[in-house]
Order: sequence, then structure tokens, then C-alpha cells
Amino acid sequence: MKTDILHSADYQSHTLTSEKNPDVLFDTLIHLLDNRTIPYDKNLITKAYSFALQAHQGQFRASGEPYICHPLAVSITLALYNVDQDSIIAGMLHDIVEDCTGYTMDSIEKEFGADITRIVAGVTKITKMHFSTKEEAAAENIRKMILAMTTDLRVILVKLADRLHNLHTLSSLSIAKQQRIAHESLEIYAPIANRLGLHRIKLQLEDLSLAYTKPESYRQIQTWVQQYEIKEKNLFEETIQTIKNTLAENSVVGTVYGRVKQIYSIYKKIQSTNIPLEDLHDIIAFRVLVDKIADCYAVLGLIHYQWKFIPKRFKDYISLPKSNGYQSLHTTIFSPFGDRMEVQIRTKQMHELAEYGVASHWLYKEKERLDTNDARQYHWLNKIIEEKIIEEDSATFLQSLRFELFQDEVFVFTPNGALIELPEGSCPVDFAYAIHSELGEKCTGARINNVIKPLNTILQHGDIVEIITDSKREPSRNWLNFVKTGKARTKIKAFLRKKERAESILLGKSMVEKVLKKHKIAFSRLAKKDSKLLADTLEHSALKTFDDFFVLVANGTLSPQKIMIYFPESLCEEKHIDKHSEQHSKEYSLPEKRFTEGISLAGMNDILLEYASCCNPVNGDAIVGYISRGRGVVVHNVYCSHLNSYEPERLLSLNWEGHANSPYRTKLILRLSGDSSLQEVTTFFTKAHILIEEANFKTLSNGFAEAQFTIQVPDIAFLYKAIQELEQLQSVKEVYRT
Ligand code: MN
Repeated sequence: MKTDILHSADYQSHTLTSEKNPDVLFDTLIHLLDNRTIPYDKNLITKAYSFALQAHQGQFRASGEPYICHPLAVSITLALYNVDQDSIIAGMLHDIVEDCTGYTMDSIEKEFGADITRIVAGVTKITKMHFSTKEEAAAENIRKMILAMTTDLRVILVKLADRLHNLHTLSSLSIAKQQRIAHESLEIYAPIANRLGLHRIKLQLEDLSLAYTKPESYRQIQTWVQQYEIKEKNLFEETIQTIKNTLAENSVVGTVYGRVKQIYSIYKKIQSTNIPLEDLHDIIAFRVLVDKIADCYAVLGLIHYQWKFIPKRFKDYISLPKSNGYQSLHTTIFSPFGDRMEVQIRTKQMHELAEYGVASHWLYKEKERLDTNDARQYHWLNKIIEEKIIEEDSATFLQSLRFELFQDEVFVFTPNGALIELPEGSCPVDFAYAIHSELGEKCTGARINNVIKPLNTILQHGDIVEIITDSKREPSRNWLNFVKTGKARTKIKAFLRKKERAESILLGKSMVEKVLKKHKIAFSRLAKKDSKLLADTLEHSALKTFDDFFVLVANGTLSPQKIMIYFPESLCEEKHIDKHSEQHSKEYSLPEKRFTEGISLAGMNDILLEYASCCNPVNGDAIVGYISRGRGVVVHNVYCSHLNSYEPERLLSLNWEGHANSPYRTKLILRLSGDSSLQEVTTFFTKAHILIEEANFKTLSNGFAEAQFTIQVPDIAFLYKAIQELEQLQSVKEVYRT
């Protein structure tokens, strides 16, 4: 019976560690496969063995036996768990690419095909990661990541079998390695096994690891358990016999056995309750396996009738399964001698699912489908089982199995191996902000898996991300177009707001200064005033400081003229000023004058600025700012005809001094003649390294054509030179800016 083979798994995996003759191990594997009801390809298994034997030739384990014993042991474990042939072969080959020179994934694929290679590659990828976790949260993330990055569950089954054998042979390694592997197994792999319902693997991983992480406690509990089993031999036998008799008397068919609980679970119990080992109750568990669900409840009734039970400890996981799909009835009874004993009652099928989890899938391969009641045991697998199990074989079934739970997340690493969890679609900027706001603000680029990539690159599972910083760098508004995390978005916006405010203050101040200058009032006199007067007069409660006032002036909410409140003597001349500002608008026909005394754009960083699309000013043009309501300053060329229709109060002269926003967009209109005129012009732009953003072309009636180009140039000097050169072209009759 298959179940018997499975039940012998513990025993077998212990003997695996002592056998040092590869051929004996291989025979064991073949013997196991022969005894399974699932057909297998003996030639292919033999080929994999020869291949691995050749590859690992001359290599030895730290424990002294030929290296090949390890992959053989992994394959045998997988066979014991009834896992499919591809996984067993992958188990045989799992260390070759990492450990043997001259072997690549390609060489494996050539011999064994894409499916097996994919499993080997997956195992190799996980093996390469070394996790050093101090916090529980980090461990949880790593577990999630391993599950998320594994699209084929068989990768995890092979990895767990690999880890199991490594723990069995851990004693030969250095103390440091023992500690790392044991901790990693407890924190990462045992919970993963539990998550997949691989209870039996989980128990082994825990006990084997505990022997290294807490050797004292482990030995103490182990010795005590051995003595207890000898001492209480009668209790075990009598209880089992009593339950058996009860079943027989009531014509229920079932299997009964008893055991002392797992060492690790006893250790955990001591830790959590502080009860010394000798006083621990509840360390014996009996299991009753029956055929039908109805029998479970019948047996429960019979046991409760026979013994006193503790009502609070009764759990019905059949009607309310655990989150990993576990189903069973649990009850705690008092033995005739007063000991507390747990009894677990479940169907054989529930038991196999509980012990072997995902791996038990193959046990039911030949059945048409799991009945719905049993399928419910994996609530997270449930849907996929229902959809896939009828029409597809097990390999396809597991390959298509994805952890939908984690689909929205991506797990990446820092160069130091710390794991960062981000929403799917995140980019290096999100990553940088997730680590530290300062890193986010200074990031200029990223090295992903050692290759420099743009900041908007979408990160993939397992990427190692290194952020390149520049102390002069500042967050850009453009980042908001591709960041994914709320944290990055909020921080970038806050930065831009702060920056915008600083620039607004500067701009508003300059505008106020200009008004004061007109009245021949020194700006420094303002510092002696109380800003409260301003707030009260303007009934603007948001005004707390002069800076607030400057911001409102800069964004066009308030007129800079309002500053004159402080200087009533000048206000008396209000009429005069009004007249003056009427003239003001006419002054714009004299741009040169304004140009020289304008407000400098130095350091403005374009947050407050917008370049008018009607006249497209370029650095070097004489410019005027229009203070738009709520949009900051729109920069126009002084010759722009739109300026005539604007309120003079809102106009502001500006100069480019020190401003370096390159490139600037501008428009040229070209009058052309000749058939190849357009080609001549575009060739010129290409040679001159001028980027054409847009081009429009229309034929005019008189044999001429007109082309309009939107191009990018760094400044006015460059533009003039380009215009001059364009005019030299044969087909170009006329060039002008719009
Ligand atoms: Mn290995």
C-alpha cells in the first residue's frame, strides 16, 4: 500500500544519511519507483543518474561520502513523497550547474528538456540567496518572495528535499554554517513547508534545526521523551487497544496509533508556558484514521463517551479547516492514570493531505477528481484543482499553479541582501524611497543586477537594486508619472511643494521689491513692520508671515501693490501711481529696458514657470512673465502679441540670468521651393543634432511650400546660428519664428 511507503519516509530518510555507496542508493530509488503505481521512465532516471555521477566525479561532501550521494538522497526523498518524475530528475541534477565546472543550464536542457531545466534553474536561484534574518517580519517577506517567485511548485518541493538532506548531514560543517542553515530552515523553510501543507517535512526541518539552534534543550527533551516512551509503554499500548476495541465493537474500520509529540513542539510549549518539562501534560497524541467523514464523528462520540474530555480543547477542523487546508477533529481526554492525551481523528485522505500537502496530489492522480468536500482542504488551491485536475496531468497542473495571493507584490534586494517588498510595477525610485527618503531625493540612476538602468525601469522578483545618488540631485515632477508607491508619491509631492514655496517666496519678494523701488522705499524697511497688519487689512487669515504674502503675490492671488498698506504717505499718491501704471502697459513696447532690470530666473528650476506655447521663448530671448491665476508664471517673448490683452498688473519683467533649462522648444516656419526641399531641411536638422518634435508641411499654390517645425534648442545663440545656416540652404527661401 502506498501509504505504507509514505509512512516509512522518516525511517528511510534517516538511513539515507548513513548509506555511502551511490549504487545502493540508486537501487533504493529504483525500488521505490517500481513500487509506486505511477508509471515512470527507467531509462531517463538512469540517464540522469549517470549524468550527475559524471558531473560530480571527484567531488566529496564535507561528511566524506561521494557528492553524488546528496542528489541521490534528494531524489529518494522526492520519490518517497510521491512527487513526479520531472522533480525526481531535477533533484538528481539540482547542484550540477552551481557546483560543477563546464556545466550550464543549456547542457541540462540539451539532455533533459526545458521542463526539468526550469525546475533546476528555480532551485539554483533560491539556493544562491542567503538569508540572514533578525526579524520575524523579514522572514515572512522572504517566505512570501520564495513562494511568489516560484511559478512551479515543484521547485519548492525539490528545494525542501535538498534542505532536508543538508540538515541530516549538518554535523560535518563549520559551526557558523550549521547555525546559518539551521536558523534559515526554522525561519524560512519550515513555515513554507507548513504553508504548503507538507506537515511531515515541516516536522523534520524543525526537529533537525532545533538540534543545532538549541542543542541543550534539544538533547534534554530528546532524552526525556525516550525515557517517557519506555516508562509509559503500557499506557500507550492499553490506550491504543481500548480505542481499537471500541471501534471493533461499533463496526468502525480504522487505524489507531500513538506517539509522543514532536520535540520542537514540546520545546515551543515549554517556551510559551514556562512549565518545566516534567510537569508538561498533553505531550501524547493518538491518531485514529477512518474511511469516511461520518466515521470521524462516530469515533469522536465513542471516545467522549468512554473518557472524560476537556470541552475547551475540542476543535472541529473538519467543518472549519485551518488556513493551510488542514482538516481533523482534535479532542483532549484524561487517561485512566490522569494524563492528558490528545486524540486526532480524521479520514485517511485528510491524513495524507495533512502530512504530505501538495505532494499528496499525486496520490489521487488516478482518481477522476477530488470530491468537492475534500478539494476544500486547500482553500487556496481549491479553484485551480477544480479547474485543472480533470483535463491536465500533474506536471501541467503544478506548473500552472501560481500564488495569486502574491501577484500584486514584487520582492527585490538591496546590495547587502536586505529584502524590500514593493507593489508590482514599482521602479527604482520607489525602491529608493522605501529605504530612506533621503536616498529617494538624491537618486539619479540605478544599477539593477549590476546593469545601469533608467529610474522608470519596472522591477522584477529577485532583482538586486543599487541606487546611484548625486548630492546635487532633486526630485523631479516627472517622477510622479511612473512611481508606484504612496510613500514615494507623497514625498516627491511634499518636496515639490516646499521647493515651489521657496521659489514663490523669492519671486513674490522680487515683485514686492519692485513696487517699493518705484516708490523709492527701501525693502529693508519692510522687515521692521508687523505682518499682522497686512493679514488684518487684507482679511487673509492664512497670512502669518511676509513669506506667506510673497507666495500669494507670486501665484497671482494678491497684487504686490498691497504692500503699500505699510506706507500710507505713499498711498496718498495712489492716483498718481494708477496713472503711472496705465502708462505701464505701453512700456511693454520698449522691451529692452525691462529686459535689463527684470527678475532673474536663476535657480527657479521651472517649477513655477511655464513657457508660453504661442511664442516659445528660448533662453536669451527678451522675456516677460505673466502671473497667471494659480498656474505660476507663464513666460512669453516680449514681442508676443498676447501680452497686449493681459492686465498690466500681472506682467513681470524677467531675465534668464543663470537659468539653465535645456532644451527649449521653439517653432520655425520655413518657406521652401523645389522637390527635395523637405529632405534637404530634415537632413540639415539631423546633422546639426536638432531634435524635431513635430513637423507640418503644406504646399502653397505658387509652387512654394511651407513647413512648420517644432524643434528643441539649448539657447538663442544656437537658434540664430541654425536659422542662418538654414537660410543658406538652396531650397529655403525664408525662415522665421512664430
Ligand atoms: Mn543540494
